[in-house]
Amino acid sequence: MEVKVFHLPLLLTRPVRKMRKPAASSPQPKNFLVIRGFLLLLLSCIAAKLSLCFSNIPSSLLTLSLDGHLNFDEVQHVAKDFGNQYQLLPLAVLHPKTVTDIAITIKHIWQMGPHSELTVAARGHGHSLQGQAQAYRGVVVNMKCLQSPIMQVHGGKFPYVDVSAGDLWINILRESMRHGLAPKSWTDYLHLTVGGTLSNAGISGQAFRHGPQISNVHQLEVITGKGEVVKCSANQNEDLFHSVLGGLGQFGIITQARISLEPAPDKVKWIRMLYSDFDTFTRDQEHLISSENTFDYIEGFVIINRTGLLNNWRSSFSPQDPLQASHFKSDGRTLFCLEVAKYFNLGQTDTIIEEVERLLSPLNYISSTLFLSEVSYIDFLDRVHVSEVKLRSKGLWEVPHPWLNLLIPRSKVHRFAEEVFGNILKDTSNGPILIYPVNKSKWDNRTSVVIPEEDIFYLMAFLSSAVPSSTGPDSLDHILYQNKRILDFCESAHLGVKQYLPHYTRQEDWKAHFGPHWEAFVRRKSAYDPLRILAPGQRIFQKAVPFS
Ligand code: FAD
Repeated sequence: MEVKVFHLPLLLTRPVRKMRKPAASSPQPKNFLVIRGFLLLLLSCIAAKLSLCFSNIPSSLLTLSLDGHLNFDEVQHVAKDFGNQYQLLPLAVLHPKTVTDIAITIKHIWQMGPHSELTVAARGHGHSLQGQAQAYRGVVVNMKCLQSPIMQVHGGKFPYVDVSAGDLWINILRESMRHGLAPKSWTDYLHLTVGGTLSNAGISGQAFRHGPQISNVHQLEVITGKGEVVKCSANQNEDLFHSVLGGLGQFGIITQARISLEPAPDKVKWIRMLYSDFDTFTRDQEHLISSENTFDYIEGFVIINRTGLLNNWRSSFSPQDPLQASHFKSDGRTLFCLEVAKYFNLGQTDTIIEEVERLLSPLNYISSTLFLSEVSYIDFLDRVHVSEVKLRSKGLWEVPHPWLNLLIPRSKVHRFAEEVFGNILKDTSNGPILIYPVNKSKWDNRTSVVIPEEDIFYLMAFLSSAVPSSTGPDSLDHILYQNKRILDFCESAHLGVKQYLPHYTRQEDWKAHFGPHWEAFVRRKSAYDPLRILAPGQRIFQKAVPFS
């Protein structure tokens, strides 16, 4: 993608050379006068247009009285993200010290009215995939600078923690664990900000029981697209509260959140087992997520294994029966790995083994493929960071990540798997493929996130990495082509699939994504961000283009 670099302060401070006025008496050819007049007219039109579009933008931003600061020079680092495919250069980066800094900046841009081009994007940890936290020629707010409130854990019967939206989940975990507590619902990777995941949903192996992270928030502080600072919850300004949760940053910048906590366990029994039959695999997953007394974490992944190589799905796990396990042959089949975890405290070491055995007994996995591990709770939750460190050391973290995340209705997941694993991704995958079901009853239908219309639906995450110089099956183009084939199939087969972390570039596709919820989404946008200032990188609305 072409990277356009605009440096507006330079453009506007450059001295304009004055034109010399000709002496009135000197004779001028008539056509010279006409040309000169035309040129003058043209120049004044350009000047007028420039002043209309960019009228004092940088200088007026410079006059803002902030505790933090706006940086107009070092902006390149926010023009990239984890996806490594989009680079949109902003005009400035706001490093806020206080909530007021963000409110002042947004209010100023709101007061500039619809003729200013300026937009504002909150940037959490920049782990978006397609430029969602970027703002071309706008202001990017570096949310990690915002340190208020200082994280505060509250105990009692219904414990919670008050955090700044720029806090990373890993830090919330560390702080709440000092009080023997922890949030209930997670993402697989914790080096993401509260504001970033709450703007999407925040889904992991605990979501079947607790719902996504957006179901575990008591209260928010939000700055709307008019620069107003508003506290909201399910009982106070409830429409804004629900709009913002899963709202893709469209309705306000979250500055603070109150997150529900539960007692943190000491340790985790972490278990993986294989299936060769998709129906048996999903039946067992669905049995587990529907049972009252079950594991605390339920996920799964696909091992595409035609090359004969078994992935490292069991590294750092021990086989329950080493002899049997050594005889297991994958025969190049596509396999499905069920991954579960049971939390426990040190005093329960004796009973936990029995408990796990009881939970495993009705399952129909390949018996020689039961692998176990025991880790601390924090190591379990922060497990992806271990892979991050390894990949970074090999230079494989900062590569393009053409990820595709889909939410698939339960009744269609078999048709989906048949086509995708039978035809589209037959030979190889370019990264992990997660698959696990969740219960819709744990999702709040008043939030903005869009999910399938069935009681159980699956998260299917194709977490591909591309090799930058490749032109083969691991190239960006090839992976994007495969993603498109998957999406085209979903559409032509009418599977009722919804994208998670959705990415569309045309409003008609966004309309189709939201379906019957589109009108409500537009109504919320016109109520809370009528000038369409916020989160332009999602490409849902465009500033100064009327709603349709
Ligand atoms: P950013 O990328 O900085 O922002 C994301 C969007 O939210 C942007 O539109 C931005 O403008 C907006 N935004 C950011 N902060 C705020 C705020 N304070 N107020 C309003 N809007 C805001 N997701 C899951 O659900 N489950 C997973 O298991 C999971 N695993 C992941 C693993 C990895 C390695 C990565 C890279 C991502 C994973 N994700 C997962 C996706 C992740 O939740 C999203 O990419 C999330 O947006 C990233 O958070 P961030 O803090 O980097 O947000």
